[in-house]
Amino acid sequence: MKNTTFKTIDIILIISLTIIGLFFVLYNYSVSDNPQESLTAIVKINGETVQTVQLNSGETPQSIHIKEDVILERESGRIRFAESDCPDKICVNTGWLSKSGQIAVCLPRRVSVEIRGADEAGFDAWAY
Ligand SMILES: [Zn+2]
Repeated sequence: MKNTTFKTIDIILIISLTIIGLFFVLYNYSVSDNPQESLTAIVKINGETVQTVQLNSGETPQSIHIKEDVILERESGRIRFAESDCPDKICVNTGWLSKSGQIAVCLPRRVSVEIRGADEAGFDAWAY
């Protein structure tokens, strides 16, 4: 009788721990998957990181001069090429970047902007 009671408590404990564990897994997943979580824009010229820009929601719009004729625009949780003197304007036409993994490139000016999540990039590699 005593033995049976102990086993029941044991099972309840195991189930409780499993539920708590699942809760944390789901919580972490939802946080990582949330595009509104703080993101970082990595700005590169010739493949060299020249600037990292925090993209937090609620941020006021700001122009960022990367090179003489390349201007990025950042606002609440997103970033884009606002101006570039390149002939193709592919970078400007790419529009806003707001999700981890998105990238805009200006080939003629060798400028790239890549969005990374606040956490490690390993999650993105797995997700894509
Ligand atoms: Zn361009």
